[in-house]
Amino acid sequence: MKLIRFANLPGDGIGPEVMSAALEVLEQTGKVYNFDCVTTSFDVGGVGIDKHGQALPNSTLDGCRAMDAILFGSVGGPKWENLTPKEQPERAALLPLRKEFELFANLRPGNLFPELCGLSPLRKDVVGGGIDVLCVRELTGGIYFGQPKKTTLLEDGQKEAIDTMIYRTGEIKRITEVAIKAASLRSKRICSVDKANVLETSVLWRQTVTEWTKKLDPSIELSHMYVDNAAMQLVRDPNQFDVILTENMFGDILSDELAVICGSLGMLASASLGTGSNSLDFPFGLYEPAGGTAPDIAGKGVANPCAQILSSALMLRYSFGLEDAAQAIENAVKDTIRSGLRTSDISMGGSAVTTSEMTSAILSRIV
Ligand code: NAD
Repeated sequence: MKLIRFANLPGDGIGPEVMSAALEVLEQTGKVYNFDCVTTSFDVGGVGIDKHGQALPNSTLDGCRAMDAILFGSVGGPKWENLTPKEQPERAALLPLRKEFELFANLRPGNLFPELCGLSPLRKDVVGGGIDVLCVRELTGGIYFGQPKKTTLLEDGQKEAIDTMIYRTGEIKRITEVAIKAASLRSKRICSVDKANVLETSVLWRQTVTEWTKKLDPSIELSHMYVDNAAMQLVRDPNQFDVILTENMFGDILSDELAVICGSLGMLASASLGTGSNSLDFPFGLYEPAGGTAPDIAGKGVANPCAQILSSALMLRYSFGLEDAAQAIENAVKDTIRSGLRTSDISMGGSAVTTSEMTSAILSRIV
């Protein structure tokens, strides 16, 4: 029996509600696909501040270090909004975790089931068949982190601000490798997005992605697109893409565009993979829903558990190599939606079920 060792960090608001749903689904999936979950829950975010004085307590960090992956809920809420930006739960918990585990690759699946196409702001004739696109974003380089980054006062009294965009070949190669692995589990098509008509970093990006893809897997169908065109093409016809590979800032913008196109935060999962391998020789990763703590519905038992459950499927796929089990969870969610069950965020005014009813329906489909 394979052992799946991961830390679970439910966090605040709806975090604990949807985390317990995901844990139930993982346990059931383990029974069918022959693995045992070994997991410990640790405080993070606002609850970390309240109980330990820190959004990311040392005990939580140590607990995560001892495991092979992190299943993360979400953090923050009105109670902690008056703290300084540096102390805010999201920033004080997620940034150090990204740093500690060198989480350089962000994978954001943009999935819209055909049955939910009414949630998308795009026309039915564009998205009626659903959306299935994966955005692979470089997460630790580029203009958000490059130095110098400063504001200076000029002699003429104006202020001048500088950000610096830097990419090295090593950074581009490793994210390309992640995109290739992800694409090989899908249709083997990658569209690399850059601004190579203007930016030096993009010229290097395009050159490196091309060479490295040819070297690692020549069977990948690689195309390139400028970022301004990619932003347009995503709304014009999202399904022309399969895997989008891009740098940090472009990925930040495009992955949010993709999320909006897909209609509901309650359905979207994400994965952040690190440089290190876990004890099973797969990437260490942090898996979390795309949405936040939803304070407006927290504690009411009506949150949509699908994003957290789908995040756990990504964890099985990328950090434990359990593709069949991951697909079983994804199919169970898909089937549940197809059967007509809806939580209120996706019910479009129709009747809605609770978190636990949705979870039970998903569980009953993993057999
Ligand atoms: P949010 O994603 O929490 O909520 C936006 C809207 O989406 C709300 O109406 C909410 O009810 C709904 N929603 C989100 N997830 C849902 C789900 N699973 N089921 C049903 N409805 C869902 O964003 P916000 O309101 O901007 O932020 C609330 C708090 O969450 C803030 O403190 C913010 O800092 C934090 N936040 C944390 C993370 C994170 O931990 N990674 C991400 C985003 C926001």
